[in-house]
Amino acid sequence: MKSAAGVYQLYIDGEFVDAAGGRSFPVYNPATEEVLAEVAEAGAADVDRAVKAARRAFDTGPWAQSTPASRAQALFKLAAKVRVELASLAEVEAINTGKPIVEAEGDIDAVAEVFEYYAGLATKIPGLVNPVSANALSLSLKEPIGVAGLIVPWNYPLLMAAWKLAPALAAGCTCVLKPAEQTPLTAMMLAQWFAEAGLPPGVVNVVNGFGESCGAPIVDHPLVDKIAFTGSTAVGKEIVKRGAETLKRVTLELGGKSPNIFFADADWEASVDGALFGIFINQGEVCSAGSRILVERSIYPKFVEAITEKAKTIRLGAPLDRETKMGPVVSKEQYDRVQKYLAIGKTEAKLALGGGRPAEFEKGWYIAPTIFYDADNSARIAREEIFGPVATVIPFDVESDAVQIANDTPYGLAAAVWSRDIFRVFRVVKQLRAGIVWVNHMQPTCVEAPWGGYKQSGSGRELGPWGIEEYLETKQVHINLNENPIGWY
Ligand code: ADP
Ligand code: MG
Repeated sequence: MKSAAGVYQLYIDGEFVDAAGGRSFPVYNPATEEVLAEVAEAGAADVDRAVKAARRAFDTGPWAQSTPASRAQALFKLAAKVRVELASLAEVEAINTGKPIVEAEGDIDAVAEVFEYYAGLATKIPGLVNPVSANALSLSLKEPIGVAGLIVPWNYPLLMAAWKLAPALAAGCTCVLKPAEQTPLTAMMLAQWFAEAGLPPGVVNVVNGFGESCGAPIVDHPLVDKIAFTGSTAVGKEIVKRGAETLKRVTLELGGKSPNIFFADADWEASVDGALFGIFINQGEVCSAGSRILVERSIYPKFVEAITEKAKTIRLGAPLDRETKMGPVVSKEQYDRVQKYLAIGKTEAKLALGGGRPAEFEKGWYIAPTIFYDADNSARIAREEIFGPVATVIPFDVESDAVQIANDTPYGLAAAVWSRDIFRVFRVVKQLRAGIVWVNHMQPTCVEAPWGGYKQSGSGRELGPWGIEEYLETKQVHINLNENPIGWY
């Protein structure tokens, strides 16, 4: 996995190799701001090698002869290995991202679960017999789309990789995976186990590097059939434009500004916890973060006070401390980005809590849980994704206002509604323009259920049977049953 010089290598065609240019880049520990590892930096030449290996593996290698059952076996083996190594994977994930170890353990458990789910689903993808005329038999066959480029972010590094690898492999695709440059380490650990799980060389390749020099060449490459991307909306748009050149199939899971809506009749304790959990889990570095907290006016002052008091008890600390509920944000770049929004927020709304770096930390990219209130939905802190521990609280008067404010956003990833009135709950659920709607909860994510966004939060769906469809083509087969079918000349 590492070169003699201690650099984490790339994984191409079944081997750990240096980057063609011999370059490497540092990866940081966000809690200490120290360099954690050096990682080989892939450029276009490395991407080309990885894509060609994936192409060969898809077209002519043993993988091309694989059966759904054999692919299921490989995925079950990979899942089992992840379970055996859960503690070490979670520790590396926590150290590299800054997330609390307890959350990291949950992430890695979910990684194993997603491999297990798609291992099971691999053997359950039937085709169809189409009801055409009596003198023909018409079939639709499900076939793998080909070489899939998988470009993932840094907030849930191995889990976002698994959400893509698992359905891609179950479908029979081959892959070029690009982890985020901030957090490549757990994907490199996983790469160690591909061969022993029974994945032939070239089936999964892992290249590390930066967006423009390593991600973009994957999107541009003519031998890549599909791109699955999770990341910012800005880069998602760039991928659609660049991918158009070779008409890539593209699925996108992008940003959000998800409303977390509280009606006066909702359970009080659950609501206060739900508002905080919705935005402060994983330091707020969550695409589905409940970053807009919409509160019915009759409970609004009391609610702002209650979430502020409770947020004061959220324990910030070292990622490996089991009592820690929030760690640092992932990088200096992200820290600066959030700081910029804190300054903007102070001009747009009132500050109930936080608003900067907590005094007790000398090092580390820590940001205090921050609550802005009395914000208007037109404020930048209500419209733009901050991707950090920053909540924007907005009052509303009646149900129709709540829906209107909730939907007044270019995004549409997720939303949550808290109420005990089932008539209201279902009315609101039906009107929300979001791909995921939670009722009396926020953030639970189930591998069996579809995940993805409306509007500028993306296109396509991950997880469940929807997830594997995005890696499948449909082939129509028309079988003539008529001895002399044409009879035209
Ligand atoms: P962030 O700004 O939070 O880092 P990004 O959307 O930039 O989020 O990054 C998500 C992933 O997309 C990372 O793996 C990153 O390297 C990659 N990426 C960034 N820019 C591009 C690009 N132009 N083409 C392809 N991938 C990119
Ligand atoms: Mg970026």
